[in-house]
Amino acid sequence: MAKKKRDTVKTLLAGEPREGILVQGWVRTRRDSKGGFSFIEVNDGSCLKNIQVIADHKLDSFKDWNKPLTTGSCVSIHGNLVASQGKGQTVEVQAVSIDVHGTADPESYPLQKKFHSLEYLREISHLRPRTNTIGAVMRVRNRLAYSIHRFFNERGFLYLHTPIITTSDCEGAGEMFQVTTLDMADPPRKEGLIDYNEDFFGRKTSLTVSGQLEAETYAMALSLVYTFGPTFRAENSNTSRHLAEFWMIEPEMAFYDLDDNMELAQEFIQFLFNDVLEHCLGDLEFFNERVDKHLLETLKQVVSHDFERLPYSEAVHLLEKAGEKFEYSVEWGCNLQAEHERYLAEKVFKKPLIIYNYPETIKPFYMKLNEDGETVRAMDVLLPRLGEIIGGSQREDDYDTLMKRIKEKDLDPEEYGWYLDLRRFGSAPHSGFGLGFERLVQFTTGVENIRDVIPFPRTPKHAGF
Ligand code: ATP
Ligand code: MN
Repeated sequence: MAKKKRDTVKTLLAGEPREGILVQGWVRTRRDSKGGFSFIEVNDGSCLKNIQVIADHKLDSFKDWNKPLTTGSCVSIHGNLVASQGKGQTVEVQAVSIDVHGTADPESYPLQKKFHSLEYLREISHLRPRTNTIGAVMRVRNRLAYSIHRFFNERGFLYLHTPIITTSDCEGAGEMFQVTTLDMADPPRKEGLIDYNEDFFGRKTSLTVSGQLEAETYAMALSLVYTFGPTFRAENSNTSRHLAEFWMIEPEMAFYDLDDNMELAQEFIQFLFNDVLEHCLGDLEFFNERVDKHLLETLKQVVSHDFERLPYSEAVHLLEKAGEKFEYSVEWGCNLQAEHERYLAEKVFKKPLIIYNYPETIKPFYMKLNEDGETVRAMDVLLPRLGEIIGGSQREDDYDTLMKRIKEKDLDPEEYGWYLDLRRFGSAPHSGFGLGFERLVQFTTGVENIRDVIPFPRTPKHAGF
């Protein structure tokens, strides 16, 4: 006999009554009535909602499932989908037979209560997928990932896989995780220093902090490319917005100037929010009710308004005259802190904000120098409540200026020979940006801590389960 196909809870809840259905999932709650029935709530992850199953204690299999069917157990239930008499659902399942696959001893199964704090759930990261919150986060995360690929592919961008192991310890040298097969207890040495000639790659290597520089090489041939992959930063910033391992989306576009770059960033974010509003409304309504009462309103606001664009100099000016007590004081040339960014996005403009033309001194060597010689064509996209979600720039496409900037920043031109070559042969104006995927999921769900929007967060002193 052919194996009966499973019906997802999602399709059942949206469907008409019919006979011969099969539900498979995990029991969220069980309640027994005096009349000799069990009301069983089953969830299979296909949607936020559970399906209610009514099981008559007169069923032949009752003696087999009665004891083991508890919260957390895994079940297969054959039955009929019928119109529900009760409140809260239009259909429910009348069980014909029930099998319990895996039990969950109530004495030791941790998810007994209806509510658990997210902090507690982080301590049981292998079981937290079975909660409403984490389930909803992961469905939204999945949808966002899917629509990111849709957005770029529909616009002729090519999905590029940049390497995870790299040698370019350019940008955040101090923030890189080293990759090595050398014996840490007794590494080979030459004149006192560790001899990386003997390491796996014959030189020092690290996990990537960004795929941008590599993406540029392909944009200089294929015009429009994007990366979407894991990124690693050993920054010891224990904040609710930083992970040591996170995913980043990095489009890189030939023939785009900074304005085009800003336009793409806005279109991208609005496309994604429109898409989740359409396809994940049930989950978003849950977050709106439980996590942030203004979530839906905020998302709808972001998709319906142009982002404000503000030169860095004006941002500094606004902050200086704000009359606000900031922890870090502001003056032209300083890095804007999260408190500054949030003040501007939340209090002054009350909508997404793009700050651009930053001082050359606080930005990396590859950003295009403006005619003033003091600022570069950098842009940061800031969202209310979250702060920075995107960092990007027009890239320096002039060979001599780039060479000068490399030397000024005390970098070794020889290391960047290949990067300089892009300006030596067929250079083109080009731009790109990086969007932190987890920051995006955070903003979309309203979930406060970035550790709760990735399956297994990696943060200082925390890897594994
Ligand atoms: P921040 O100032 O918030 O640390 P950054 O300037 O270091 O950000 P970029 O190097 O421009 O960030 O990286 C591009 C994007 O990657 C950021 O806008 C952000 O969305 C995301 N991002 C950066 N660092 C992290 C991190 N440690 N964890 C999660 N996302 C990050
Ligand atoms: Mn950072």
